[in-house]
Amino acid sequence: MATLAVLAELKDGAARKITFEMLAEARRLSDASGGGTVGLIALGALGPGESDRLAHQGADHIYHVEGEALSGYAAEAYAEGVKVALDRARPDTLFIGATSQGKDLAPRVSARLRVGLASDCTEFAFHNGDLTARRPIFAGKAFGRVAWNAARPRIATVRPNTFTPLEPDTSRKAKVENVPIGPVKARARVVGFERSEGEMLDLTEANIIVSGGRAMQGPENFELLRRLCKVLGATLGASRAAVDAGWIDHSHQVGQTGKVVNPTVYFAVGISGAIQHLAGMSSSRTIVAINKDRDAPIFKIASYGIVGDLYQVVPLLTEEFERALKE
Ligand SMILES: Cc1cc2nc3c(=O)[nH]c(=O)nc-3n(C[C@H](O)[C@H](O)[C@H](O)COP(=O)(O)OP(=O)(O)OC[C@H]3O[C@@H](n4cnc5c(N)ncnc54)[C@H](O)[C@@H]3O)c2cc1C
Repeated sequence: MATLAVLAELKDGAARKITFEMLAEARRLSDASGGGTVGLIALGALGPGESDRLAHQGADHIYHVEGEALSGYAAEAYAEGVKVALDRARPDTLFIGATSQGKDLAPRVSARLRVGLASDCTEFAFHNGDLTARRPIFAGKAFGRVAWNAARPRIATVRPNTFTPLEPDTSRKAKVENVPIGPVKARARVVGFERSEGEMLDLTEANIIVSGGRAMQGPENFELLRRLCKVLGATLGASRAAVDAGWIDHSHQVGQTGKVVNPTVYFAVGISGAIQHLAGMSSSRTIVAINKDRDAPIFKIASYGIVGDLYQVVPLLTEEFERALKE
């Protein structure tokens, strides 16, 4: 029987989508192993009804760590928060989101506990009773299957948008245990967040992404893509060429040195499809490529390809989507 725990990623007291994705996978693994418990570690304030929501989507036991030290994200304080919760929960395996925060925190927790960490995992399975994980390597050109040594808990960061959250079951209940934490001396603390682009969802959580590349030629032409984003409720992405040219902020960059995304639909507009870009988006469910070069490598992985000039195609698509969605 496996005992798994998920570290909730919270924003203003509400769990982000990655939390529910990890809960679904933890639940599946736990059931597959004969029905162990799924713990959930929540650090800092939880909004009203949030514990119920987490229970409805798979958590059996919520370890709620609260204290002054966790009032804003600080890696050292959060690592201590995870540790005090793990001392109570004692899971075999801990899932942490492979998000900006999770990527900062997971190595710290792993080093502190001297246990193994598998990062950016996209699949888990039991082999002869032992858990293994599949993770992309060499910028997504290959996959590796990894196992942990005997030290517990195993820690894995989980790629966002890989697992589908469970349908909420309102009859499910979780035990909520409050875990105190004393003061922690943190050398750095995040004092605030600034939204980089209006009301758009973060790239890693977006269901639809419209990305522009070098063919955008300048910051002003990204307006074309913003209009399409608005119609589709999509988030704006970019290739490194566009970011390096200073046309758009790095927070929009998709790829090996940007964000790894996994949306339902990814529009690659005027992007050639370099391996480093593909490393960040090739697992998107549907890829639509718009490029005037019919031999552009992006067409090799595209589900739909439009060979044409983006300055003609994008306005037409925007108009057509607007009309179709109104209907
Ligand atoms: C270590 C390293 C890390 C990197 N990390 C990243 C990363 O994270 N993300 C990333 O994206 N890149 C990354 N790169 C850079 C990568 O190698 C490519 O240089 C980059 O992705 C190219 O961006 P692009 O496709 O926008 O530009 P280009 O390769 O120049 O492609 C532009 C495309 O636009 C098409 N086009 C031109 N005009 C039009 C038009 N009017 N209508 C339609 N199509 C048109 C062209 O046919 C062409 O295919 C990295 C490189 C290195 C070495």
